[in-house]
Amino acid sequence: GQYGQSPAVYPSPNATGSGGWEAGLAKAKDLVSKLTLEEKALMVTGYPGPCVGNILAIPRLGFPGLCLQDGPLSIRVADYASVFAAGVSVAASWDRTLMYERGLAMGEEFRDKGSQILLGPVAGPLGRSAYAGRNWEGFSPDPYLTGVAMEETINGIQKAGVQATAKHFIANEQETQRNPSWVNGTISQEAVSANLDDRTMHELYLWPFANAVHAKVASVMCSYQRINGSYGCQNSKVLNGLLKTELGFQGYVMSDWGGTHAGVAAIEAGLDMDMPGGQGTYGMRWGTSFFGGNVTAAVNNGTLDESRLDDMIVRIMTPYYALGQDSDFPTVDPSTADLNTFSPRSTWLTEFNLTGESSRDVRGDHADLIREQGAAAMVLLKNEKGALPLKAPKSIAVFGNDAGDIVSGFYNQKNYEYGTLSAGGGSGTGRFTYIVTPLEAIKARAAQDKALVQYWLNNTEIAASDINTLWVPKRPDVCLVFLKTWAEEAADRTHLESDWHGDDVVESVASACSNTIVITHSAGINTLPWADHPNVTAILAAHYPGQESGNSLVDVLYGDVNPSGRLPYTIALNGSDYNAPPTTAISTTGVEDWQSWFDEKLEIDYRYFDAHNISVRYEFGFGLSYTTFALSDIQAAKADEKATISAAPPAQEIQPGGNPALWETLYTVEVTVRNTGKVKGAAVPQLYVTLPESAPAGTPVRQLRGFDKVSLKPGRSDTVNFQLMRRDLSYWDIVSQEWVIPSGEIKLSVGFSSRDLQQFATITPVS
Ligand code: BGC
Repeated sequence: GQYGQSPAVYPSPNATGSGGWEAGLAKAKDLVSKLTLEEKALMVTGYPGPCVGNILAIPRLGFPGLCLQDGPLSIRVADYASVFAAGVSVAASWDRTLMYERGLAMGEEFRDKGSQILLGPVAGPLGRSAYAGRNWEGFSPDPYLTGVAMEETINGIQKAGVQATAKHFIANEQETQRNPSWVNGTISQEAVSANLDDRTMHELYLWPFANAVHAKVASVMCSYQRINGSYGCQNSKVLNGLLKTELGFQGYVMSDWGGTHAGVAAIEAGLDMDMPGGQGTYGMRWGTSFFGGNVTAAVNNGTLDESRLDDMIVRIMTPYYALGQDSDFPTVDPSTADLNTFSPRSTWLTEFNLTGESSRDVRGDHADLIREQGAAAMVLLKNEKGALPLKAPKSIAVFGNDAGDIVSGFYNQKNYEYGTLSAGGGSGTGRFTYIVTPLEAIKARAAQDKALVQYWLNNTEIAASDINTLWVPKRPDVCLVFLKTWAEEAADRTHLESDWHGDDVVESVASACSNTIVITHSAGINTLPWADHPNVTAILAAHYPGQESGNSLVDVLYGDVNPSGRLPYTIALNGSDYNAPPTTAISTTGVEDWQSWFDEKLEIDYRYFDAHNISVRYEFGFGLSYTTFALSDIQAAKADEKATISAAPPAQEIQPGGNPALWETLYTVEVTVRNTGKVKGAAVPQLYVTLPESAPAGTPVRQLRGFDKVSLKPGRSDTVNFQLMRRDLSYWDIVSQEWVIPSGEIKLSVGFSSRDLQQFATITPVS
């Protein structure tokens, strides 16, 4: 593929139900056969209603309609729902079980609130740029880690009987100009175009969506921006080509909200559902739609073949039946309608008959899970002079506006000066029932030791004060500094520092306190310029841990939980070390001129730093523990000793996820991991693959292709087993349009981070 153009791929493939949805597909076809043309148009077009997205009911057929709700960490337009850890925290856990259980718990809450469709998880943005406003909603700039997180999350959500939505497809890597600009009702400048080559598309951005389809995700949300010049929701190459043909996707493509820019053209390019249904990007013009009545007209006048419309509905209804949503599914919680500011009652074009209990408490015992997961996701970056775990300190000083409560209270997170951050902003936030703040959890825990807890929450004051004058009668045993970094939808970050003079706060406290421990609640990448300060004894990256934030934290601070998170991205020495910034301004005014060139190709995050031998502060995969681990006895073996491995995958019938041969384990790699310290803890052994010289230029130095989280008592060891699938050993060959294993020796390195590699082996699948 070339830059700046997107090839045409038509027609849109019909769903077959392959991969286990055959029975669901048959039921969907049966439903379609009973629909009038007008009903068909309604099935693919959203309407204003109680939920963030609504498909109207067809009572005569017993179809209750569909309720689509945000988002990736909570059911947002709801009360008495849990707010789980954000995607970035989930990635930092490197824990497959956690990923699955969180998905399952979220799915249960969506179901109990009467929402069939959860608008998450997120693999776009992947994290091309450190600055992108929505990286925290997704997982990691590493496609393998994100792929695993996608697959586990989707499995969990759908196990609960709720449809997951992999979003935003694809190359949705910045917020700036994600939508067109309008002047007097016409587009003055189109949305930014993400321009990327075919190999980069496959090896980075498409990779985790392949996992999503492999997990049989019900829906995929196409993205706002353009891809190689053509809008995400009418790009036939990505929708018909990559998604529905190459990956064998059996569900439906829904537009991002207001991301539809055409009717028939979008439908033929592969779009199956228009959301929210009205026209306009900001400020819906309800009642006017690219779909709706235009779909009926297009079929009637012969512009649109009715068989395509039928396939759209088959795709929408197959997962509904396959997940059993046609029986015993709870009604939409009536309180949703009152909480929904997007399509309030005043916008409704039709009545909704809302029944059942209002303001249902759907949280169950998820608070325990959230507390546990928040702790399991914390990354200990520095720990010197025995700073952590705390040993019953009798005097604790707490600093920073991130430590305490919001003072201008609201349930959704915003970038307030005061108040701990536990999620970012926009459609991906959650409506908190409560947040346990760090300060309140510290007070409660410190009371067990009858400790003195003093606190200063005004950052400006702390930064300007001589800290020595603050404490009486004596120096505290420990100073805990809380920093926060905000990020939100529709805006990219303008810097990579902590907000509210956080860096000055650390300097000020550390100048007077020889045991300064810094805890960050950040959207992701944060520069930590004071990291080497001798008085900064420990740094804990807590990211966005969800509603139990303070409790999760004290569990780690006091050593009840041994930290086991690992960085899902790189922390560079300087903010200016990061490449691939978003396109934030253009000097021209042409309608088409917003262009974002992915010229770095595969070199994002650690792939970039490794390719150029750039020193970093904390590398991808890094994280400390209160214990130590050792690796030994690496062994790599062919999964099937006698098999001859071909460079290209054998042709097989496409299944969800693509050619099944790509998902076959070709090698297993074993390594022994031992807890060599004095306390129980969890290690995260990581497997990186280095492809041989015969791979095309631009192949990354090493790429994550396996990880596991292993809990071990002191002195105990365990065997970790990595399974290398065909695609893990391949590059995307743009000529043959195929995943190819390069000939020659492939190096395998196992270690505790991308730059702490300790065990090595080689394999030669193709000589
Ligand atoms: C966001 C989506 C979200 C939708 C509905 C859009 O602006 O990009 O992620 O699901 O709104 O709130």
